Amino acid sequence: MIVLNYHELVSASPSNAWCLTHKAFDAHLALCGGTLVSPRTFLETCDDPKASRTSEVLLTFDDGFLSDYTHVYARYAATGKIPGFMSFIPVDFVGAPGRMNWQMIEELSRNGITVGSHGMAHLDLTTVSDAQLEREVSVSKAVLEDRLGQQVALFAFPYGRFSQRVWEAALRAGYTRLFTIQLGNHRGFESFLYSRLCLTNGMDAEYMRQHLLDPDAMRGLAWKISTRLGLYRSLMRVRYR
Ligand SMILES: [Zn+2]
Repeated sequence: MIVLNYHELVSASPSNAWCLTHKAFDAHLALCGGTLVSPRTFLETCDDPKASRTSEVLLTFDDGFLSDYTHVYARYAATGKIPGFMSFIPVDFVGAPGRMNWQMIEELSRNGITVGSHGMAHLDLTTVSDAQLEREVSVSKAVLEDRLGQQVALFAFPYGRFSQRVWEAALRAGYTRLFTIQLGNHRGFESFLYSRLCLTNGMDAEYMRQHLLDPDAMRGLAWKISTRLGLYRSLMRVRYR
């Protein structure tokens, strides 16, 4: 399966590279066609090695932008045009200008949208102290679970930045699936890591078409060689130690 990662969607004039227009998002949805899967289907099948190479697509959104609610949920999920998505929330941003408030997040969670944690203050977790790391992963989980009345088992690393110390803290806190922004199909180099393509407005529909055909196509030579030699996982373990 293929996991896509979006941020804010706007009608026009994106303010940064990770902000996409509604038109660009529509073009991506058209390319995905009938291959979109719900978070529930994804979570039920993602551990099956046979699911590894299927072309089904899961949508995820990071940072708790208002457009998760006003655009993606209201226009697509609530009307049945897409089968749902994952929304990763940085808890300190809830209710800030341009971000969802708790009522919206609670509504998403009640209606088939899977809510995960994106930490508290959206920090690069590879640079924070052990105490701060603990707070980012544990307090965000506790606050979300308290608000939503259900377990929160998914975590997305802010800026896609992680290390072994970071993933061990997240696993200790009780998360079972951790989302990166590495290329490739959904299965990461560890069983609890999940790869995603992070979309920027510099990627056109052709880039997306290529990615949907082969999510490994854009990976570098080092990946290709180390994978062929069966060394990729060992190399990644050294890199992220
Ligand atoms: Zn983020």
